[in-house]
Amino acid sequence: CQATTQDAAVSLSNDESPVHGLSEVVVGVLGGGQLGRMMCQAASQMAIKVVVLDPQENCPASSFSYHHMVGSFDDSATVEEFAKRCGVLTVEIEHVDVDTLEKLEKQGVDCQPKASTIRIIQDKYQQKVHFSKHGIPLPEFMKIDDLEGARKVGELFGYPLMLKSRRLAYDGRGNVVAKSEEELPSAVAALGGFNRGLYAEKWAPFVKELAVIVARGRDNSISCYPVVETIHSFLIYLLTKFLFCSRDNICHIVKAPANVKWKTREHATEVAFNAVSSLEGAGVFAVELFLTKDVTTPSSQILLNEVAPRPHNSGHHTIESCYTSQYEQHLRAVVGLPLGDASLKVPAAIMYNILGEEEGELGFRLAHQLIQRALTIPGATIHWYDKPEMRKQRKMGHITIVGPSLSNIESNLAIVVEGKKLDDT
Ligand code: ATP
Ligand code: MG
Ligand code: MG
Repeated sequence: CQATTQDAAVSLSNDESPVHGLSEVVVGVLGGGQLGRMMCQAASQMAIKVVVLDPQENCPASSFSYHHMVGSFDDSATVEEFAKRCGVLTVEIEHVDVDTLEKLEKQGVDCQPKASTIRIIQDKYQQKVHFSKHGIPLPEFMKIDDLEGARKVGELFGYPLMLKSRRLAYDGRGNVVAKSEEELPSAVAALGGFNRGLYAEKWAPFVKELAVIVARGRDNSISCYPVVETIHSFLIYLLTKFLFCSRDNICHIVKAPANVKWKTREHATEVAFNAVSSLEGAGVFAVELFLTKDVTTPSSQILLNEVAPRPHNSGHHTIESCYTSQYEQHLRAVVGLPLGDASLKVPAAIMYNILGEEEGELGFRLAHQLIQRALTIPGATIHWYDKPEMRKQRKMGHITIVGPSLSNIESNLAIVVEGKKLDDT
């Protein structure tokens, strides 16, 4: 079955213009944001042709792609037209028109990962139902259709209670916390009401958030990246007492490898492996996890938060820190090349997201100051996504610093973020 789909992919791309890359397959990516951009950068190294579909004319991927089709990845006719230009279709965002992907698959179009996977992932409630059926540990969850139902779930799960939109959520923008029963109506209203499709999750009392990227090739070979720690929270206490960063539920810092016990890493990798094994198709999958205690006691738990069926923010660091970046790995996987070595080639790395601090020009100037400081740091690499508009909390770029240890890198990151050495403080 796999050979057939791959053959189909190759024959679709066999038009009159031959491709001389590592693969003859033209990769079509739905979405042209920063993930698409970095996929295109990895593709150029291998001379693999990547075409992207994105509504924004100057989207981050447009300047690096072989071809950019301007149009919506959520529009049926556009996706069908786009598919004609590709040997294999993949995604850099899960909020795409999955009905059309399923229809195209039936017509023989090769989608990696499979449309069935995208369908499960893009509805976060369905995703939880799916993983619970497969025995993956999760925070308790329940669909809520009205206030009465929300109150019952509140009684059952307790407070704080996490309310989530089922669809179109990203960067924590579909999440609202209700601290008490009284807050339920305003929390529901903040999410756009019950018509939007909501569910509730029991609060996960995590001590750390972890992530594991799992790659699956077309031959079903699996390769897992090192477990990393992701830091998203409202108030991050970083670098002892010197640096406070206030951020919403948006991923902000990634530390590789995660500073947790070896047993914890093993367990996290096992949960991620099992979760991805329950999904269909090739590519990289990012598995977000909660760690409730970093000791091997019966109460220590790894719970799955969610899975992304594509390269992920928690894997940006792999460009500089691993033998094969997640972007190269994703391309290798979807075109049917052997998977590369996912292990770290440096002792440690930290990725810092450059988030918009202010709207417009002022925001650009502040980001520029940060970048100027990063340019002086040994082991630092700057990625700027070239987004035309600066908005508060928007992901505008990132900095990866590699070095001999996490503590050494943390000191260097403090210089970038704070603009001064810790000793000066
Ligand atoms: P992403 O940008 O990763 O797609 P998202 O919008 O899908 O984010 P989630 O991953 O569901 O949002 O949640 C964002 C963050 O909110 C988590 O990383 C975690 O910090 C917090 N969070 C989510 N669910 C819970 C929970 N049940 N209990 C406690 N905190 C949670
Ligand atoms: Mg998400
Ligand atoms: Mg998430």
